[in-house]
Amino acid sequence: MSDIKKIADLISKDMSKKDVELITKAYVFAEKAHTGQKRMNGEPYFFHVFETAKILHKLGMDAKTISAGLLHDVLEDTQTKEEEIKKEFGDDILFLINGVTKLGKLKYRGHERHVESLRKFFVAISNDLRVVIIKFADRLHNLRTLEFVREDKRKRIAVESVEIYASLADRLGMGKLKGQIEDAAFPYAYPKEYKEIEEILKDRMSSYEKDIKQVGEELEKELKKNKIKFIEISSRIKHKYSLWKKLVGRDMDINKIYDIVALCVVVKNVEDCYRVLGIVHSIWKPLPGRIKDYIAFPKPNGYRSLHTTILNGLGGVAEIQIRTEEMHAEAAYGIAAHFAYKDYDSKKAKNDKEKFKWIEELKDLKHIPNDPKIFLENLKIDFFNDRIFIFTPEGDVVDLPKDSSPIDFAYSIHSDIGDHTSGAKINNKMSHIFSKLKNGDVVEIINRQDAHPSSKWLEYTKTSVAKKHIKNYLEKNSLLAKLKSFGHS
Ligand code: MN
Repeated sequence: MSDIKKIADLISKDMSKKDVELITKAYVFAEKAHTGQKRMNGEPYFFHVFETAKILHKLGMDAKTISAGLLHDVLEDTQTKEEEIKKEFGDDILFLINGVTKLGKLKYRGHERHVESLRKFFVAISNDLRVVIIKFADRLHNLRTLEFVREDKRKRIAVESVEIYASLADRLGMGKLKGQIEDAAFPYAYPKEYKEIEEILKDRMSSYEKDIKQVGEELEKELKKNKIKFIEISSRIKHKYSLWKKLVGRDMDINKIYDIVALCVVVKNVEDCYRVLGIVHSIWKPLPGRIKDYIAFPKPNGYRSLHTTILNGLGGVAEIQIRTEEMHAEAAYGIAAHFAYKDYDSKKAKNDKEKFKWIEELKDLKHIPNDPKIFLENLKIDFFNDRIFIFTPEGDVVDLPKDSSPIDFAYSIHSDIGDHTSGAKINNKMSHIFSKLKNGDVVEIINRQDAHPSSKWLEYTKTSVAKKHIKNYLEKNSLLAKLKSFGHS
């Protein structure tokens, strides 16, 4: 096998001449900039950025994003200056590269309760979903070459990938990428559990595969007989990480899991989905309670499909998923499907409000425009313009409303810390506890046992948690004062 990375792997037929030129230029530039650099596994560094760009191409991203993928490490790891990128590739690509570089600085240190803030922060500082997607591709390739990384670092990266990256990919409806990230990270994040799964699957795999193939062939025959045109029938084995997660909830009993193998039927339109479901149920007996209509009731991340679990007549069960081509693309690529499908039906964009509920919640989108391009522009994320993200000295992230003070921060950590706030160091500088915090500040609270809330604190707090505790303290105190004066009279 040749090691030469071919530019043709980054280009598709429907790209314009300008697109091809841009990608070619980025390719040549990145290869030159990384000349002489090697990765831990001994490969030329350029291979990493090339593979990152290839993942982006497979996700159907546009030429600018693919180019930014090729260039994503030049600012961080080579002599290249920002001005040079700006001159050669323009503001947009420079913006994307800077975003990816910024995201690279974010680290997850494994504190459960801050995970959600970190996920939000990840999206917030990336400013543009394309940045998030480039970072996903970068991380996926890094995971695939993780065996060459030092063991402790390997574990941290793998856990972070599952907790932050895969989880975000899922929220964005990017099921394929989520599965790929989880499976690449799983053996390093949870080696013992991974081995367990391998062991469980070892003897069953071949019979699973054989059975699902037979079910697929039978269904194909029936569909032809009933003159239902299908685009594809394919089978998949459940990703190992999600299988493990499910097993944990089912007493580790593999017989309680019904979707280890699934058949996916892709048809032309929604009516055909329901017709296929009818045919499936006329051939095989469905398990009661396992028929799910995610077309009428999509999942929160936008996933749409019909699901049913059948007794396969071979002594086992199989899940059958039925959906249209468009649903199929969205199930795999989620929000990236908008970049991928240039002829994406603009009327459908109206439904995006439903599909990407999570983003809507984050951004509080008032309306979604009909043109998918404008929709994406709007996703240039100022999602969080009313939130700020504050770091503890240990690097945990706390998510607070804009204009919060160190008092809010203190109470968000613990009521006891809040109640005894006497001072605060903001970015290592002694500061007033009534200061307004800014995005990205590192805050250390100074406690003194004789420090206590005063009514003035209420004017300088934004969070209801802080206000509640301050009021509690004040009430308790005035009650005590009354009791005291009563006792002395
Ligand atoms: Mn990289």
